[in-house]
Amino acid sequence: MHWSKYNIFSAIRDSGNYFILNPLTGSADVLSPREASLAGMLQKGESVSDADFLNEFISKGYLIDEEQEKKLYRSKYLDFSDNREKDEIQIFLVTNYSCNFACSYCYQDQYVFPGKELTREMTDAFFSYIGREFAGRKKYLTIFGGEPLLPSPRQKEIFTYIIERANLAGLELCFVTNGYELEEYVPLLRTGKIREIQVTLDGTKTVHDSRRYLKGGSGTFEKIVRGVDATLENGLPVNLRVVADKGNINDLPSLAAFAIEKGWTGSNLFKTQIGRNYELHHCQSDPELLFSRISLYETIYGLVKQFPYITEFHKPAYSVAKFLSENGSLPDPLFDSCPACKTEWAFDYTGNIYSCTATVGKEGESLGTFYPSVTKKEDIIERWQDRDVTTIPECHDCPVQLACGGGCGSVAKNRTGEIGSPDCRPVKELLELGFASYFDNDK
Ligand code: SF4
Ligand code: SF4
Repeated sequence: MHWSKYNIFSAIRDSGNYFILNPLTGSADVLSPREASLAGMLQKGESVSDADFLNEFISKGYLIDEEQEKKLYRSKYLDFSDNREKDEIQIFLVTNYSCNFACSYCYQDQYVFPGKELTREMTDAFFSYIGREFAGRKKYLTIFGGEPLLPSPRQKEIFTYIIERANLAGLELCFVTNGYELEEYVPLLRTGKIREIQVTLDGTKTVHDSRRYLKGGSGTFEKIVRGVDATLENGLPVNLRVVADKGNINDLPSLAAFAIEKGWTGSNLFKTQIGRNYELHHCQSDPELLFSRISLYETIYGLVKQFPYITEFHKPAYSVAKFLSENGSLPDPLFDSCPACKTEWAFDYTGNIYSCTATVGKEGESLGTFYPSVTKKEDIIERWQDRDVTTIPECHDCPVQLACGGGCGSVAKNRTGEIGSPDCRPVKELLELGFASYFDNDK
């Protein structure tokens, strides 16, 4: 028996207790200081005489036979690959890269926009391609930009057509929008099968308007709020996204209070996500303003302690901790956290195909075309599809691999030039915060 190489063991933040978790065997426990000291001895390979404790650690797979562990790993990996074949595919369509906003931190601001428009002919080619290529797979469509919901009659006309085609194909639709024209678009959106409208709001009025303004500099907060109200009133689900950095994070309590006061958080059509403002390809923002992944979550953890009502607005995931607290069990082992070219693809109005939203429209990242003719760079697509913790050499012996999944392929490629390189996640540190937040540690 040996200490499983997939055990994640550490102290719970602000508590005398510890946690141990093993994504391969699916076990997780809070440990008292005494139990943690015994676990620490086992981790160092020392012997422990407490038979009950040893038996429990063996039954939960924290102590495991090496061969049995390898077998279990292989079998879970096969399950993961099989399930992925059946998973739903998210297909992004970029209708335009142009935008009516000039956000202070836009990662697309250096993209050169080809002076083309999405035509009916290209839309037909797009629907034929996805119908053929992903035949028999569950799938849904996410419309993305630039800003898709622009006010021009031409834009409304092409969306009417896209919604018609999506309805014919039985596809649900999501829209990722800055929300400025949402109120005007709601009647048109209601004609589709809308799964979700993702809208970005970076804070209450003053903070939001200092970051997400129109090209002319005017504020956008009030119109977006009217758009969110109209969307919810019409029964369409909203996913409110906050792009967080040091410039707006301290406004989170006020934004949460605003959303609670508006009654948004009481609606089952409303959910939130906090995205980290980070340097994807390059960054316009002051680098001093950017959080690392762990420092963002540490800051949110501190804010929630001070203003517990924030969790009515947003409950941080802290790796798998929130899932564990809500489901009473761990998620399946995560051999790959990057869906690019597997369960995610992106297409744009120039006729190009990309791996995902991080690469769409970026020079040199095209993987082929769906219009005017179909072409594919099979070798690069294969590299994306092969990427997981079993093929990234750095991940092989990493104890948190089955909760991390190797991170984002695009971030990894931007850093090292290699798709098959790691983008490390601070899993242990996130779990330290997560166990402190969601489990009654001191009892
Ligand atoms: S490359 Fe990054 S952004 Fe793209 S699918 Fe993978 S994890 Fe997501
Ligand atoms: S990306 Fe880094 S943290 Fe994640 S599994 Fe690989 S080595 Fe571990």
